[in-house]
Amino acid sequence: MFFPLTIRDFLDRATTVYPDRVAVVDEPDQPAASWGTLTYAELGLRARRQAAALDRLGVPAAARVAVVSQNSARLLASFFGVCGWGRVLVPVNFRLTSAEIGYIVNHSGAEVLMVDPALRSLLDEVDCKHTFVLGEDDDRIWADASDPRPWEADETATATINYTSGTTARPKGVQMTHRNLWVNASVFGWQASVDDRDVYLHTLPLFHVNGWGHPFAVTGMGGRHIMIRQIDGTEILRRIEEHGVTYLCAAPAVVATILDAAESWEGEVPGRDRVRVIVAGAPPPTRTIERVRRDLGWEFIQIYGLTETAPLLTMSRMRAEWAELDPTEQARLLGRAGAPALGVRLMTDDDGEVLARSNHNLDGYWDNPEATAEALAGNWFHTGDGGTIQDGYLTIADRKKDVIITGGENVSSIEVEDALMSHPAVREAAVIGIPDEKWGELVTALVVIDGEVSPEELIAHCRARLAGYKCPKRVEFRRELVRTATGKLQKFKLREPFWEGHDRQVH
Ligand code: AMP
Repeated sequence: MFFPLTIRDFLDRATTVYPDRVAVVDEPDQPAASWGTLTYAELGLRARRQAAALDRLGVPAAARVAVVSQNSARLLASFFGVCGWGRVLVPVNFRLTSAEIGYIVNHSGAEVLMVDPALRSLLDEVDCKHTFVLGEDDDRIWADASDPRPWEADETATATINYTSGTTARPKGVQMTHRNLWVNASVFGWQASVDDRDVYLHTLPLFHVNGWGHPFAVTGMGGRHIMIRQIDGTEILRRIEEHGVTYLCAAPAVVATILDAAESWEGEVPGRDRVRVIVAGAPPPTRTIERVRRDLGWEFIQIYGLTETAPLLTMSRMRAEWAELDPTEQARLLGRAGAPALGVRLMTDDDGEVLARSNHNLDGYWDNPEATAEALAGNWFHTGDGGTIQDGYLTIADRKKDVIITGGENVSSIEVEDALMSHPAVREAAVIGIPDEKWGELVTALVVIDGEVSPEELIAHCRARLAGYKCPKRVEFRRELVRTATGKLQKFKLREPFWEGHDRQVH
C-alpha cells in the first residue's frame, strides 16, 4: 500500500494523541499580541482556520505564501496552515533589506505576504496580491471557522521554499517536497532522541532551513515548543529555567553567547544533565565543546548539512565506546561534523568536495534549472564544502564555494563585492571571511580605491543595500589584489595571512 508522506501527518498525530497538551508557549514580548499558551487542539484549529482563510482568498494549492517574521507561534502555525493544505510556505529571513525581500517575494511568485508588525514598512515597498500584518490581521487569517477545502495529498509536491545565499549574487530558492521534509524530520527526531517529554526552545530561526525540521519533529512527538524572538544569552538561560527546556539548537556564535551569560549567572546554570544542544552552521571550536559539557553540563551534539539537504547529512553524538576517554579527546571526536545520518550516502570527489545523496536533498532550485542541474550533477548533491572522511566520520576542512558564514548565517561574498563596486570610488573589491572569536568568521573587504573614501563610508554604503549581517565589519585598502593569469581573484592567497596557524580554512 502506498500512503503519501505529508507534513500534515505531524500535526494530525499531535492533535489526535495529545490534544490537551501544551503545544506552544508564544513569545511574551513581541509587537503583536502574544498568543500565550496553546494546546495541540488549539494549534490544529488555527492551522485549519488559516487554510480556510486562504481558500476564501482564492489562493490555490501550490501557490506560494511568504511569511517574514521573527520566531513566533503564528509562524509555527503557518508551517501547518499553509503547507498542510497544499500551499507552499516561503519563510523569509527577517533581517534582509526590503529590496532583498522584494526579490524573494517576486521570484517565488508569492500571492500572499504576511509580515511581523515590526516590519510593516515592507508592505509599502514590496508588491504582493494579498498582504497581512501578523497580529493586527488575526481576524482575517485565523478566524474562519469553515472547513478548509480538502487537499489531494501528494508527497512529491513542494511544501517549502527557503532562499539561501550561495555562490551567486542573488539568493536561490531551495524547494523541499513533503517527502523531503518528512524524512528529514523523522530521521532527525530519531537520531536526536526527540520524544514526548521534550521542551524545545526555538533559538534557531524558523526561516533558517525551516528551523531544521523541528516544527514537524517536535510536533509529531507531542513535545512542547517554546518561542523566543531575540537571541540573548541570559534570556535563553532564563527561559530554559522557567520552562524546563530539554533541547535547543544553535550556531556556534549563539553557543558562545550562552557560555558568556553562564559566567555571570547566579547559582547553578539551568539544565545540567537535562539539556541537549545541537550545534551546526560552522565547526565549533573544541574548547566550546568542552565548556558546554563541563561548565553547563549539557549534552553536546553536532550536525552538518545545508539548506539544500533539509539539512541533516551527518551527526556527531557521544558513543558508548568513547565513555572512558578523557573529556578533551571526547570533545575532539565530537568536533568532527559526524557520521552519515540514516539513509544518507556521502563521498568526496577528487577535489575533496563533499557529495551527498539522500531522500531529503532538494527537489531543485525554484525556477532555476541550470543551478539545479549543476548542484545535482551525476545524481549527487554537490555541497561546495571541502572535507575528509575517516572511519566513517566527516570533517569539514574548507569551503569551495565563495560563502562566508558569520554568526551562523551565509553571506555570498559576490553579493557584498557587488554592493562595494557600486560605490564610485571603488575600483576592485574582494570580500573574504577571516577567523573571529565572536562571529566565527568576520566579513572583511579588501578594496582598491580611486579617489577618496573612508572605510566607514564604504560600510554605510553597503548598509543601504544589504542586510546588516552581510556588511563588511572590517575594510582594508590595498594597492592591488592578487589575480590569476585569467584575471580571477586568488582568494585563497588573500585569505592566507589571516588564517595562519589555523589547521582548517573555516571557523
Ligand atoms: P545553510 O545552507 O545556510 O544552512 O549553510 C550551510 C553551510 O554551513 C554548509 O555548506 C557548511 O559550509 C556550513 N556548515 C553547516 N554545518 C556545519 C558544520 N557542522 N561544520 C562546518 N560547517 C558547517
